[in-house]
This record gives sequence, C-alpha cells and structure tokens, in this order.
Amino acid sequence: MTPLLMIPGPVELSPAVRASLEIRPAAHTAPAFIRTFGEALRDLRTVFQAGADHQPFVVAGSGTLAMEMAATNVVGPGDRALVIETGYFSARMAEILRRRGVVVTVLAAEPGHAPSPAEVVAALDAAPNAVFVTHVDTSTGVRVDLAGIAAAVRPSGALLVVDGVCSVAGEAAGQTALGIDVLLTASQKALSLPPGLAIVVASPRALAARARLTAPPPLTVDFDQWLPVHRAYEEGRPSYFATPATGLVATLAVGLAELVAEGVDAAIGRHVRAARAIRAGFDVLGLRGVPVDAGLAANTLSALWLPPGVGPDLPARLADRGVVVAGGLHPAIRPRYFRIGHLGWVTSQPEALARTVRALGDALEAAGYPCDPHRAEAAVRSAD
Ligand code: PMP
Repeated sequence: MTPLLMIPGPVELSPAVRASLEIRPAAHTAPAFIRTFGEALRDLRTVFQAGADHQPFVVAGSGTLAMEMAATNVVGPGDRALVIETGYFSARMAEILRRRGVVVTVLAAEPGHAPSPAEVVAALDAAPNAVFVTHVDTSTGVRVDLAGIAAAVRPSGALLVVDGVCSVAGEAAGQTALGIDVLLTASQKALSLPPGLAIVVASPRALAARARLTAPPPLTVDFDQWLPVHRAYEEGRPSYFATPATGLVATLAVGLAELVAEGVDAAIGRHVRAARAIRAGFDVLGLRGVPVDAGLAANTLSALWLPPGVGPDLPARLADRGVVVAGGLHPAIRPRYFRIGHLGWVTSQPEALARTVRALGDALEAAGYPCDPHRAEAAVRSAD
C-alpha cells in the first residue's frame, strides 16, 4: 500500500495538482508562463484575503526563506522587534532577526501555551518597530489568538509580521481585515502543493518600510529586486531578476485555482471539520494534546503527548503500518510527544483520516498501550 503522508508538511496532493507535475518547465519569459504566474499572484491575494494594494511575492525556497524575506525587508540593524514565541519556529524568527542586527525582545510561552493579547500589550513597552508572531507553531500545535494580537498591536503603529506557514488556507487569517503587514507561507502546507516555493504577501506599509531601510536586505530576498518582476508578471510582460521555479509556479497556479474555486472560507471550514473528526478518534484512544486547552489547538495539526509506556519510536511503528507521522520537534519536550498533520487536500478525504487513527491505535496497542483502535476509527467516521 502507498504510504499515507500525515506529517505537518509536505502533504498529500490533490489529483489535479499531482497531474500538474507532468507539465514541462517553461521558459520564464514564455507568454503562457507569464499569464500563469500573473494568475497565481492574483489568486494569492484571494487566498490571503489581501487587498489589491498588497504585493504577493513567490520565490524558489522553503518557508524559512519566506521568514528571512519577511524579516529582513521590514527591519534593519538597530531596529527593535518583539517576537511572540510559541515554539521552535518563533525561536527561529528571533534568530533571523538577531543575525540582521535587530534588537529582539522575546515574549515567550511555555510549550503548549500562548501569550495573551494583554501580555502582548505589556510587551509593547519595548516600543518595537515590528511584532513577529507565528500563527500556528508546528512544534507545539498551538494557534495564537491572531485577531486579539493584531488588535493589541494596531494602536502601537508597529508593523505586524505573521508566519502563516502552518496556517494560510487552513486557519482564519484574513490579511487585510486583521491589518497584517507581512503574511508568509510555504507551498507544502495547507496550500497542498509540493515543497519549493516561499510565498510572502506585503502590505503597502511593509513596502514603505523596505523603502526606508538604510541597510538593504540580502539581494536574493530584496522586495526592491523582486517588485518590478512580480508587477511585470501581473501586467503580462517578461522580466528577470533570478530564474523563477517555472514548473512549481505552474503547479502553484493549479493548486490556487482549486482553492479559489472552493472558496477560502470553505477551505478553512474543511480544516476545522477534519480536525474535529480526527480528534474524535484521538479522544477515544485517550490521547492528550500538547496545547493546554482546546481553543489553542490548531486545525492544521495535532501535537500529542505519548501515553505512558509508549516511546518516541511510535512514528516508526506507524510507518510500518503505512502512515507517516512526525516525531517531536520542540527541544524542551522532544522525546515526549509526536505530531500528526491534517492539512491540505487530505482534509477532504475522510478515509485517510480514519486510516490514520486506525493505524495509530494499532501501533499504540502493539506498543503495549491498551486502547480500542476499532472504536477510535469509527469515531472519526461518524464525526460530522
Ligand atoms: N514556520 C512554520 C510555522 C513551519 O511550520 C515551518 C516548517 N515546518 C517553517 C516556518 C519553516 O519552513 P521550511 O521548513 O519550509 O523552511
């Protein structure tokens, strides 16, 4: 049986997206490719729920490159940044900022917790130029109260940069409505595409912040270098700064067209329902999530404590049963938990969710933990 990929990215692909991988890579100046790229950029505004004055950037790279692009274009050496830390990926953002010479204040939460908007308000005393937050930290499965944090930051005038790698298209994160200045993601998560594209959408305030920088960002991620190229693609003209991943951009266009046809809110609703269904199975198995309350648990993945007597070899036991899940990532708790992604196309496949819970129950039983895999599987199937 083909293994089922249930890590929090890369993810399983829809049949149409998989078929698009057969498209021969085009010249980056080919008229058909320019049209495709332009459509993808317009669709990105729809998916990010960003206004026409927001600029999407698509560059070859992973989510970390998108983080680097976001960070280095809005703040420079000597600027101040507040990083709201909910796990491994927020800590990475703090490191990117320190390497840029930015003075970083960290507002950290214990694994499984998230700072409240009131705590964010207090931390704004450090008068940051920009606030950085990870919407869903994939190392803990914690989703912050993004609307609350955005409202807390807004009166300060600081720029708001959101790592939406594990949230965009899976969690409500309307960019314009929340006043997010930079929202970033990567292709291999809830957009349900292969890895390889870093995606950043910048507000007019973010573009103005780049224009004010005295120390420019690294050339490869500089908004100023990419802006004329992206504008040209939307206007149907050839342009060049660095070769785009033409094959992946064609795939991006197919995936985004599917999402736009479905509707962004419907896609988010699909993730909500999938999370509810798979967690009905986890509950029957008696598993507890790392997020300390249900409101903090992301729709896109579950971070689950290993039950008593079960070791960190549980993902290997699941792989033997044809389901690929992820181990722990947060350094403070790494050997004590594991992670299951439920994001992207697979959220429309109830059979895959049921198969995951069944394999999980069987693996737990084989590891000596008493549970009822059959009843857990049935709970997933009967969830509404
Ligand atoms: N931010 C978050 C929230 C992530 O989940 C990830 C990847 N899991 C990244 C950033 C980094 O993305 P990449 O691994 O593609 O560089």
